[in-house]
Amino acid sequence: MTAAERRAALEAIAAEVRDCTRCRLHETRTKAVPGEGDPSTEVVFVGEGPGEHEDRQGRPFVGASGALLTELIESVGWTRPDVFITNVVKCRPPGNRDPQADEIEACSLHLHHQMEVLDPAVVVTVGKHSLERFRPGDRISRVHGTTRSIDPATGVRDGMAFAMYHPAFALYQGSNRPTLFEDIAGLPGAVAASRQRRAAAEPPIPPPTTPIEQPITRSDTADTDQLTLF
Ligand code: SF4
Repeated sequence: MTAAERRAALEAIAAEVRDCTRCRLHETRTKAVPGEGDPSTEVVFVGEGPGEHEDRQGRPFVGASGALLTELIESVGWTRPDVFITNVVKCRPPGNRDPQADEIEACSLHLHHQMEVLDPAVVVTVGKHSLERFRPGDRISRVHGTTRSIDPATGVRDGMAFAMYHPAFALYQGSNRPTLFEDIAGLPGAVAASRQRRAAAEPPIPPPTTPIEQPITRSDTADTDQLTLF
């Protein structure tokens, strides 16, 4: 898929999300938040769901958590537009409650379509619901800063999931802040490793076939003889 085709496909998914009524969260949202970023990126951050600011603006991670996420991304030498950022549920759960299981299930269709289009080398799980989606059974306190293969049933063909605490973890308790920066420092290495793993899994390119020598025919020699005259 070309970058333009990916962009168009992501815009089509975003349009579906904005019109979506698959779960009760559409009743209370101000704006749905499909996600944003580089359609050709190798890295997709997946949070839990939009908060108050995101719900008002229709963009992911724009509040205090968003500012810290931006800082974390920049700490490894990237910028926000270099990656794609989205959430497990695209509409704000009222009062910032956790998304419920049936809401996550209903919205998984949109996330799955996004993953099929983006086909990232690494999904960064931001928070426990995203972790459960891409690394079922893992506990963030044990696996933060580590990678694990992703089940292709999520829409990611052959990628790795990198586990990260939600930025709110550091906003509620400042002493957790260094942990987030230490963890994300390992992300570029995880991307390089996943990229290598994918390349190794690609089928080898067959060697070029040797051209078959054609016998020189009578007419060939006649043409050659004629050409030598000029
Ligand atoms: Fe649709 Fe997802 Fe919003 Fe529910 S949260 S209404 S499934 S877009």
